[in-house]
Amino acid sequence: MNLKPLIVAACEAIVSHETELTNLDRAIGDGDHGANMTRGFRALADEADALAALPFGEGLRKAGTLLVMKVGGASGPLYGSALMAIGKASESAPATTADAARLLEAAVEAVKLRGKSDTGAKTMLDVLAPVAAALAANPADPFAAARAAADEGLEATRPMRATKGRAAFLGERSVGHLDPGARSSALLVHAIADALEKR
Ligand code: ADP
Ligand code: MG
Repeated sequence: MNLKPLIVAACEAIVSHETELTNLDRAIGDGDHGANMTRGFRALADEADALAALPFGEGLRKAGTLLVMKVGGASGPLYGSALMAIGKASESAPATTADAARLLEAAVEAVKLRGKSDTGAKTMLDVLAPVAAALAANPADPFAAARAAADEGLEATRPMRATKGRAAFLGERSVGHLDPGARSSALLVHAIADALEKR
């Protein structure tokens, strides 16, 4: 599995939705999620050749370190630890849906630990955890299952009251809005699933 097309696809998805991510974060945060993510994923794309030349796990660990350094905000360390956890859990690239599920589960655990968080708090975990669970169920079409779980997880954040991150300061006023980090996670799941499916 070559990391480069995955990194490029992830970067394109984030960059082309920067304004949407900004607007979601304006509604229930501080409006920097689009800029944070664009900065981080552009940095990954700039390093895509070097990252792809490394062994799979090491490439992802390096990518995670880059995200922590470049994204800033709460989401940088969270996405960074997610990638580092996947890198640590991969001796080689995932070969089966079960492998992919295991890697994503490692990412979810890392985000929970770093964010002192869990599902139901209106965060990226409300997308990442259901996607991991959908893959662990060994669906017939893992790409479609991952995309559907991401979309449902994202939509499920709308009625939630945020209890983690900046949106938690809004309390009840966070209800009725999609979580920006859940949206960026859904974009990433779609981008990676599409890129892997196309191979
Ligand atoms: P900041 O909140 O520092 O401005 P961003 O705007 O880049 O950082 O990212 C906000 C997103 O990060 C939220 O929408 C949410 O999905 C995610 N997030 C924030 N805090 C946590 C946490 N403790 N656990 C999981 N995800 C979180
Ligand atoms: Mg923000």
